Amino acid sequence: MATVPTTIRERERKISFWAFFRRAMRLRCPECGMSRIFKPWRQTRTLEDWVRPLHDCPNCEYEYQREEGYFMMAICAVNYGVITAGAIVVAFLLYTFVSPPLWVYIVFIFVPMPLLSFLFTRHAKALWMAIDHYLEPQAKRQDRHA
Ligand SMILES: [Zn+2]
Repeated sequence: MATVPTTIRERERKISFWAFFRRAMRLRCPECGMSRIFKPWRQTRTLEDWVRPLHDCPNCEYEYQREEGYFMMAICAVNYGVITAGAIVVAFLLYTFVSPPLWVYIVFIFVPMPLLSFLFTRHAKALWMAIDHYLEPQAKRQDRHA
């Protein structure tokens, strides 16, 4: 007879980190992997629509923003970290293989960084939610009120 996981952590251990990662890359709920975290890009009308996640998952009611300031680490660590690391790698490869003049680094690496950071905002928040939910699973609303 199969045992039934009794705690959320035991249940979440059955899902690999890569499943959470794939859900985040598809901008899907970290809990169920079905519903969107953000409005579809065709329905975004304002800047806030682009950067603000929905309140919770319409499918499983997983609450996307656990607390005030929840996404601070998503921006400071995940977004800036990934964009900066990518820029450093590209600059290093350029320097190693091509050694272009300084203006090439500025135009093709430094200038696009803010735009890339803005475009990566949704994925950074989704990745942060996936990492956080993997390391510290959050009870779904119906589980908390049961
Ligand atoms: Zn969900």
